[in-house]
Amino acid sequence: MSLTWKDVTFNYILPDQKKDRIIGLSFPENDLNLGLEPSILTVLPDGDNVEYSLKNIDFPDDDVRYYLCSVYIAGMDEFKAWANRHDKTKIIVGGYHPTTFPEEFKRYAAKIVVGPCDDIYATIAQSGQIVHGVTSYNHLPRYDLYDVRWNQQVIPDKLKEELCTSISTSQGCPFRCDFCCTPIMSNKLISKPLDLVTREIKFLHETYAKYGDLKYIFIRDENFPLQKDWKERLAAISAELPKVKIYLFASANTLDVESIKYMAKHNVYMICLGLENINKEYKKNENLDNVIKLLKIYTYLSFIVDPLEIIGQEKGKEFYELLLTRLYTLKPEMICGNFLMPFRGTKLWDKYYAYISEDDYKFYNSKSAFMIRNKVVRAKMEFFMWYYQMVYYNSSVYKHEVRNFNVDDTLAQRFDELKKMFTDRYNILWNKRG
Ligand code: SF4
Repeated sequence: MSLTWKDVTFNYILPDQKKDRIIGLSFPENDLNLGLEPSILTVLPDGDNVEYSLKNIDFPDDDVRYYLCSVYIAGMDEFKAWANRHDKTKIIVGGYHPTTFPEEFKRYAAKIVVGPCDDIYATIAQSGQIVHGVTSYNHLPRYDLYDVRWNQQVIPDKLKEELCTSISTSQGCPFRCDFCCTPIMSNKLISKPLDLVTREIKFLHETYAKYGDLKYIFIRDENFPLQKDWKERLAAISAELPKVKIYLFASANTLDVESIKYMAKHNVYMICLGLENINKEYKKNENLDNVIKLLKIYTYLSFIVDPLEIIGQEKGKEFYELLLTRLYTLKPEMICGNFLMPFRGTKLWDKYYAYISEDDYKFYNSKSAFMIRNKVVRAKMEFFMWYYQMVYYNSSVYKHEVRNFNVDDTLAQRFDELKKMFTDRYNILWNKRG
C-alpha cells in the first residue's frame, strides 16, 4: 500500500540514536564567500542528534528522522532535485518561498511551514500539510552547529580576518513598501524578549572569545529602531560587548537628533538606510536627507535598479546621472545596488509577474537583471550597475569628503569580486555575438 501525506505522523522519540538524525539544510547552498549566517540555525531544535549541513549532499534516509530545509526562491530548483532523491515523508520546508508558494511544495515535503518559526516540534505537531510556524522564544539559535568564524559582513574599514557576528532581535515589519518581501514573512513586528536577547549576546560573546577579539556585530532586524524598547536592547548589546562596533538597519522616519546621538553613544558604527528606487517616493524616506546630515556614523545606502526603466542608452545614462547626483549630495560611506526582484505578495507583483517565469527563480540574488530577455543587454546592465558604484567610490567627492576607498577592506574586496563576475560575463557574451 502506498503512503499518502495524510498518513504521515511524526514520532518524536525513536530509540536508536543513529537512526535519529535531524539535518538542517539551506537552499541555495550556503555560500561561504558571502559568509551569511544560515537562518535555519534558529529553527534547528536542541539535542545532540541535530546537524547543519553546509553542503546539500545526499543522506541515507534510514538514518534520518527529519530534514529541515530552508528554501529561498533562488534555491527552488536545487531543492526540488535534492528532494526527489530523498524520502519526502521526512522533509519539512520553511522560509520565504514555502511561505509565499506553499502549494508548490506539496509534492516535495511532508510539512510546509509558513512564516517565522523557532519551535519546530510545536509547529509540526499541528495537523495538516501546510502549517503556521510557532515561535516560542525558549531556545538559542544553534550557533554551535556552524563555525562562527565564517560569518562575514561587507563593512567599510573591516578587514577580512576581523571577527564579526550577528543577532536578530525582531522579525517582520508593519509597513508595506511595494517591493519588500519582509511583511510577507510577517506583517507584524515581533520582538524577541529582552532576556533572550541578553542570553544570546552573552552566548555569542563567550563563543567568539575562543577565536580572538570580536570587532563587529550586525543587528539583522529589518528596522531596529521600530521597536518601542530599542534603546534598552541597544544598551544591553553594547554593555555586553563594549568594544564591538554595531551595524544595523533602520528607516529614516524612525530617526531624529536624539535617537542618533543615543546610537552613536552606544557604539553604532554604521546604519543602513534604503535609498531604494530614486524615481519613487517612499513614506519611510520623507526625512532621509535631514537624517543623513545628522548622522555622524557611517551611512550605508542600498538602492534599487528597475531594469525595465533603463532600457536604452539614454534612459540608462539619465538614471545613473541622477543616482550619482543623489550620492554626491548624501555622501554615504557604503552603497549597494540591487536589481528589482518582484516578489509575489508585494504590490509590485501584479505589475511585473508577466515578465517572470519559474526559470528566473534561480536569479533572485539581486545582482541579476533577469527580467531582460536579451542576454547581452542583461549582462551590460549588470556590468553598469557595478561600474557606476565604482565611479562613486573613485570620485573626488568620496575621496575628499567621505573616506579613502582604496584600502584592503571587505568593501574593496567585494567590489573586486563583483568586477570579475560582471566583466567576465559581459565579455563572454559580447564575444559570442554572431
Ligand atoms: S523596506 Fe523596510 S520599512 Fe519598508 S516594508 Fe521592508 S522592512 Fe519595512
